Amino acid sequence: MYSQTSHPTSLAQTLKVGLLLTAGFLLAPVSAQVSPPSKAEGYTTAFPIDISQVTLNSGRLWDNQARTLSYLKFVDVNRLLYVFRNNHKLSTNGATKNGGWDDPGFPFRSHVQGHFLTAWAQCYATLKDTTCRSQAQAMTAAMVQCQNNNGAAGFSSGYLSGFPESEFTAMEGGTLSNGNVPYYAIHKTLAGLLDVWRNIGDSNARTACLALAGWVDTRTARLSSSQMQSVLNTEFGGMMEVLTDIYFQSGDSKWLTTAGRFYHAAVEDPLANNQDNLNGQHANTNIPKWLGAVRNYKATGNTKYLSIAKNAWNMVVNTHSYAIGGNSQAEHFRPANAIAGYLSTDTCEHCNSYNMLKLTRQLWSIEPTNSAYFDFYERTLYNHIVAAQNPSDSHGHITYFTSLNPGAKRGLGPAWGGGTWSTDYNSFWCCQGTGVEANTKHMDSVYWSDSSSLYVNLFTSSVLNWSARNIQVTQTTTYPISDTTTLTISGSGSFALKIRIPAWTSGASILVNGNSAGVSVNPGSYATISRTWASGDTVKVTLPMKFRTVVANDNGQIGAIAYGPVVLTANNGATTRPTIDLSSLLRTSTTSLTFSGKVNGATTTFVPFYEGQSFAANTYFTLSGTLPSGNTGSTTTTAATTSRAATTAATTSRAATTTGGGSCAALYGQCGGIGWTGPTCCTSSTCKFSNDYYSQCL
Ligand SMILES: [Zn+2]
Repeated sequence: MYSQTSHPTSLAQTLKVGLLLTAGFLLAPVSAQVSPPSKAEGYTTAFPIDISQVTLNSGRLWDNQARTLSYLKFVDVNRLLYVFRNNHKLSTNGATKNGGWDDPGFPFRSHVQGHFLTAWAQCYATLKDTTCRSQAQAMTAAMVQCQNNNGAAGFSSGYLSGFPESEFTAMEGGTLSNGNVPYYAIHKTLAGLLDVWRNIGDSNARTACLALAGWVDTRTARLSSSQMQSVLNTEFGGMMEVLTDIYFQSGDSKWLTTAGRFYHAAVEDPLANNQDNLNGQHANTNIPKWLGAVRNYKATGNTKYLSIAKNAWNMVVNTHSYAIGGNSQAEHFRPANAIAGYLSTDTCEHCNSYNMLKLTRQLWSIEPTNSAYFDFYERTLYNHIVAAQNPSDSHGHITYFTSLNPGAKRGLGPAWGGGTWSTDYNSFWCCQGTGVEANTKHMDSVYWSDSSSLYVNLFTSSVLNWSARNIQVTQTTTYPISDTTTLTISGSGSFALKIRIPAWTSGASILVNGNSAGVSVNPGSYATISRTWASGDTVKVTLPMKFRTVVANDNGQIGAIAYGPVVLTANNGATTRPTIDLSSLLRTSTTSLTFSGKVNGATTTFVPFYEGQSFAANTYFTLSGTLPSGNTGSTTTTAATTSRAATTAATTSRAATTTGGGSCAALYGQCGGIGWTGPTCCTSSTCKFSNDYYSQCL
């Protein structure tokens, strides 16, 4: 339906490159963007190659992108604008109102539109899709009209939202009680406008973005620091990150001052001291704060902020993540290493992994010798992000939770709103928003560069146009079905090619033009091939895969099965945790990832977790026996602390947090989850849905 091939560099891009060279940003990796940042990020060693220079080819990442693109081109901009125009006292042009989290009565309606702006901008950048550009530009033009009508609507200059400005007054006064999370929605709008400004060069997006950021600056400048800290008790998304990003884009340091007001001391100070205070905290409220911290470090050099981000990443990846890379149960972090006790229907909110991967990119760019970052990225990308999309839906709809309970059926909406998979117009959850973003940027982390190197972090069929070096690299592979990928160079020049060798492999090899590369190829590191490259050079990378177990940190007898980078799931609907005979595992095809193994004594089919959307499945098992010959010694664990005491403690804590309180104002930020019985929120007048959070309290 659209071109899979790369596009030539436009005149505008060429001119921008020239301007950047004049400005001295010789290494600026984002020079291919239509409107690149004014300030380069500091304290950064490796830079992502801009998505305008990378295109995906066939494979599961491309398939997911195609489904989401279909939805992005289908969705009606006037429907998405309904709550904005209605709130800013403009005609809704006869548009039908949306349902779900964009219903005109839903507290934080208008949170989702920014995600669409970002996704459209990404599709224009990588695919040059002009329909997506038109959708984005129609929305930004209307958003400027909304801001221009603020006087008549009774709002302050620059305000832009689908709910009244009085919600901020109530939040600042401590009286907001309808479940709204006002700055959470503002963050999404700012981020979407910034992406349209940067990737499309749209002047309305720039105007609306800076005006709304100015409104945030004015609004927050009036508050004392203690008042501001009180405001930050209500979920506020990535406000520090996006304001820092606006600083990079505009070069105006005033936005760093505004960004700094969104430092949430109560939850970030302990992380700076490497204290895991995550138990009971709402996961997706907090991960964006760490993203803000690391971006702000890149602007200011404040090492406390770097510590916060690194410590939090290590805690979550090593002690709060399931085998598929996702985290949280009922949207909340649980005690460190509590995994086996929380294998529930409502594990792994999609947004959390989306944001953890953004955090991973940021941290790796500071420390690109550490391949563990992209081992986690690959694990979570394939086993959670890709797996959360429904491949049988032409619009690529998304599951909010990715269930890991015995007999799990993929497709579970949020506690607030319910449902199964997202829908065209009646869900608009946060995870639907991060879903359209995630599935239109799979090319953003494959290739990276520094002044002398090209990094290959992910293995997927793709084409890189490395304009800074006048080099094209074509990657040909069916990975992870095949364990081999081939990189073919076009153009010439001297640079080091650095290829991630995953920790899960053994016996990896690299051939250059059919001969051994003669370099170290060690699991859990980067293999570096330094040479003068010529057109037609080929690099063949083989990463042998085999079965391994990924055991629960809190119970060494319970675990998932992985094969190379992919976690497997069994087409077996047993509703109590079944036992797997590890010695029975067998790959049954060389051209697809299909496997067999004995579950509760019966031969069962296994497929990658990302293929497990259509049947009741088991992913965690009671482990029995040993892996087949050739697969010994490949068991992996992140902590391997088999402790009954830890499991008991986790269960007790879970009971406490699921019956605990939190005011309605903080409902979304502090509570959450099926089975919560806080009485205050059960009487909320904002309850609209038949199966929502409040109803479940009754
Ligand atoms: Zn979400």
